[in-house]
Amino acid sequence: MTQPVRVHPIVSPWGRFGLYSFYIDSPEPAIVDTGIASSPADGMAPALEAIGRRIEDVRWIFLTHGHIDHIGGAHALWELTGRQAKVVIHRADAPMLRSRQAHVDEYLAGRGQYLNDPDGASRVGAAAESVISGEMEPGLLVQGGETISLGGGVTVSVHSVPGHTPGSVAYVIDGQNDAFVGDAVQVHGAANGFPGFADPAAYRASLKFLRDEIRPRHLYLGHPYRGADGEPFGVELDEAQARRALGESIEVESRVSDAACRCIEAGLETTTSTYSPFAAAAHHLGYSGDPALEPSPFFTTLHGYRTQFLNRDLLTNNEETLTHG
Ligand SMILES: [Zn+2]
Ligand SMILES: [Zn+2]
Repeated sequence: MTQPVRVHPIVSPWGRFGLYSFYIDSPEPAIVDTGIASSPADGMAPALEAIGRRIEDVRWIFLTHGHIDHIGGAHALWELTGRQAKVVIHRADAPMLRSRQAHVDEYLAGRGQYLNDPDGASRVGAAAESVISGEMEPGLLVQGGETISLGGGVTVSVHSVPGHTPGSVAYVIDGQNDAFVGDAVQVHGAANGFPGFADPAAYRASLKFLRDEIRPRHLYLGHPYRGADGEPFGVELDEAQARRALGESIEVESRVSDAACRCIEAGLETTTSTYSPFAAAAHHLGYSGDPALEPSPFFTTLHGYRTQFLNRDLLTNNEETLTHG
């Protein structure tokens, strides 16, 4: 590879928010993440036209994970390429691309248990219906460790960075260390002001892997996450900003871990608090955001620590049985 590959951030409107995708300007062009159903036509097509590129020429659709605001536009974008583009997703998140119902199931298995919202599941189902452009079978399933050629000597390597979701991946342009990580690096979270991750131990390990092994020269994020000073990072970070975002994300996780473990060890208490049964953790962290605001990172994350705690308990009990039994 002689020339550096150019990356163009694309923002597609969604209510008050923008959804971010990235165009990799390689011989076989790629788009990382696809927003929602309307994003390819409303956001990507005009943005590409403005830089003299055509959406129908896109050959790779790289999905960082299975959440609706990242995979929602995949089917529509695939259609706009004349079904020529290959849709890439991690094996573990592929069910979210194949089925709208998987999003309802994920809700019910996690945050839905705490929200006391009888309409919650049907609301998630309705959202999946309207913002996911189509259920589809991925063109390429990955699990980390793959290298994908984009022509002209440009290659992208795929790394597994689970935690935010089981199948979160980082796509890294080889040679220039540009890393696209979707929501795998949360800092203080986005609009909710709380970082969301389903598996805390995996999230922490992935952050350290990105900081110590990948060491991105540019880090491309799924949302403008807030930093320690309350100011949002952009979605396109240089090397120094990337180090800071990764370092702060690790610090935030350890603070949340501390609060969560104290709260869970003391025994969860069901109260009338909207943070119930994790009110003590919210208090300890000084978190006053609305925990019910979808996608409810507060409950997703606290449920993750709870599951981790239960599994550890189970493990210890098994060891005791083995020793004494
Ligand atoms: Zn996400
Ligand atoms: Zn997201």
